[in-house]
Amino acid sequence: MNYQLLLENIYNEVQSIENTGKVADYIPELAKVNPEKFGISLVDSTGNIFEVGDTKETFSIQSISKVLTTAIIFAKEGNELWKRVGFEPSGNAFNSLIQLEYEKGIPRNPFLNAGSLVIADLMLDHFDDPKKYFLNFVRTLAENPTIQSNESVAQSEMESGFRNAALVNFIKSFKNIKNAPEDVLDFYYFQCAIEMTTTDLAKCFRVFANQGLIPNTDDLFLTKSQCKRMNALMQMCGFYDQAGEFTFKVGLPGKSGVGGGVVALLPNQYTVTVWSPKLNKKGNSFYGLEVLERLTTETGTSIF
Ligand code: GLU
Repeated sequence: MNYQLLLENIYNEVQSIENTGKVADYIPELAKVNPEKFGISLVDSTGNIFEVGDTKETFSIQSISKVLTTAIIFAKEGNELWKRVGFEPSGNAFNSLIQLEYEKGIPRNPFLNAGSLVIADLMLDHFDDPKKYFLNFVRTLAENPTIQSNESVAQSEMESGFRNAALVNFIKSFKNIKNAPEDVLDFYYFQCAIEMTTTDLAKCFRVFANQGLIPNTDDLFLTKSQCKRMNALMQMCGFYDQAGEFTFKVGLPGKSGVGGGVVALLPNQYTVTVWSPKLNKKGNSFYGLEVLERLTTETGTSIF
């Protein structure tokens, strides 16, 4: 299918809706981004790329990185992983501390900050140089060797991330973090500060639409069952405490980040990324949701 005209129509249509969202400003460096940026990239199962708007500029992928680190650790640990972190939707905010107390330091899922900090701890255990490994991994998936992590964004978050510091220390008090809290946070901020274009990110997520095989190489990264589970996690936990509404309106697994990126996929068909930095009250890109709802409605495609 040629998605180009469809994306262009959606892009124009959505811009006629008043965007009541706001750029995330709790990480000072992120507040500097131009709120009007808006781009959409879709990559189909054979690798054809369809783009509209600001698809050549990079943005901070933030929480979207959590899917990639989780997948790396799931591939390494298999189902042992679920002893350290759960796989249930949360219904609480992404940076919530509440559940950790009564769940004894086992975060409810790997896409909450708490869960992702446990995954970051495991990245430190599995790799001598986890930053280098992770960067190479995303560069391979995106087929773009120029991808970088933005040091100023990571530094800005390190200086303002009191809640993440609280989370990692709290989890460590339950012995579910093995490494030094500052090392875990250092890696976590590095992964969140990775910058990509919408097209890079859509290419990165093709592995989840391709039953766990890395496209163009056909290297097995995840088993079919692991790939299914990663998509299930994205469906249930990918959109903060708006995951239900995303499922209801869009019907695709995916993940958003506070940098305004949203990536979603239809297994065996396509991956799609939207970048628009103004976030709705639940922390998801306001236009991102509008675009994806139209895309699945107008094509009549969703996992349901
Ligand atoms: N680095 C951000 C944080 O820990 C990620 C948040 C997000 O994108 O949801 O607050």
